[in-house]
Amino acid sequence: MSEYEIAVVHGDGIGPEVCAAAKSVVEAVPGLTGLNYVEYPGGANEYLRSGSALPTQTLEGCRKAHAVLHGATGIPGVTYADGTETGIEFGLQLRFALDLFANVRPIRLREGVRSRLAGRQAGDIDYVIVRENTEGLYAARGTGIILRDETATDTLVMTRKGIERVCRFAFELARSRNGAPGDGKKRVTCCDKANVLRSYAFFRRVFDEVAEQYPDIEVDYAYADAMTCYMVERPEHFDVIVTENMFGDIISDLAACTVGSMGMSPSGEVGDEHGFFQAAHGSAPTIAGQNIANPYGSILSAATMLEWLGKRHNDERLSAGARAIEAAVDQALRDPSGLTRDIGGQASTTDVTQRVISFLR
Ligand code: ATP
Ligand code: MG
Repeated sequence: MSEYEIAVVHGDGIGPEVCAAAKSVVEAVPGLTGLNYVEYPGGANEYLRSGSALPTQTLEGCRKAHAVLHGATGIPGVTYADGTETGIEFGLQLRFALDLFANVRPIRLREGVRSRLAGRQAGDIDYVIVRENTEGLYAARGTGIILRDETATDTLVMTRKGIERVCRFAFELARSRNGAPGDGKKRVTCCDKANVLRSYAFFRRVFDEVAEQYPDIEVDYAYADAMTCYMVERPEHFDVIVTENMFGDIISDLAACTVGSMGMSPSGEVGDEHGFFQAAHGSAPTIAGQNIANPYGSILSAATMLEWLGKRHNDERLSAGARAIEAAVDQALRDPSGLTRDIGGQASTTDVTQRVISFLR
């Protein structure tokens, strides 16, 4: 039987709570043996303690593991924006170090969860945001400059290689899906600001070149500002959305809100060699330590991890485990006792986790 090593980084804020939830759910999948967990320090508290958010031992551990499972990292006041130029942010550093170029964020309204958009039912919203993860504006992390306290700049970087690979990823993903819920069409939407900035015009040009190799997939375009409106007005139109790093960050939070809460959204950051799985939300420090954080995003990220590992290693046991977790989450959400506060219930993080586990048995 294959053995897989999973590097686990709990992180800061609610990170340890939601990460523990995800791990205990994976451990409860019947018959899913052969996963070995190795814990590593990382994040903003680790930065304050040791001077590095991503210590060498953690980076090497993540590099040699088959996958990385993460809670969330970051605490207020420890940011690149304060002028610190050394490695301060765990996730950002890991993305670049492991070349995790595609940040995949499934957005799906599940039964039992009320959308914040009026009249939307489960099944109406089901799309994936593919956020470019290694360039764009966030590639400037910590390298921007403030000149004489008068002028500040950060640089937005786009490369042909970077755009091509993320667009190809988006089209391949669209091929594997069932199409947009509204009309069943397989579609990739390019979200950019090609009307104003050269970098985004270049993104769109390379997107079009890649699209030519996928004549079976419909393409469309949205400027990032208008996109926020379309996501509220007609979410059923979307199937796969591909976009630059910062736009992806912004529209992901809006999207998460349309399917219940920031706490519902999973994410998987993948490259050719490595995969890193954490909920799409941050460390939510104001609700940390109270056992009230929504763990579903983190639990679903662990399912995404199993699915990715299963495909990569051709191991059907893992793919079946992913499906089992998805089904248990759907069952848990069908009753108010499976809802945390952010989605209108009263259940605690651990209540919800136990509930998911009970449906796996
Ligand atoms: P980052 O920069 O790391 O993305 P952020 O500043 O965007 O972090 P988050 O930590 O994602 O902020 O939190 C945004 C809001 O969503 C906060 O009000 C937080 O309380 C809420 N939130 C985030 N995650 C959860 C969760 N799992 N359960 C409940 N509420 C959450
Ligand atoms: Mg955020």
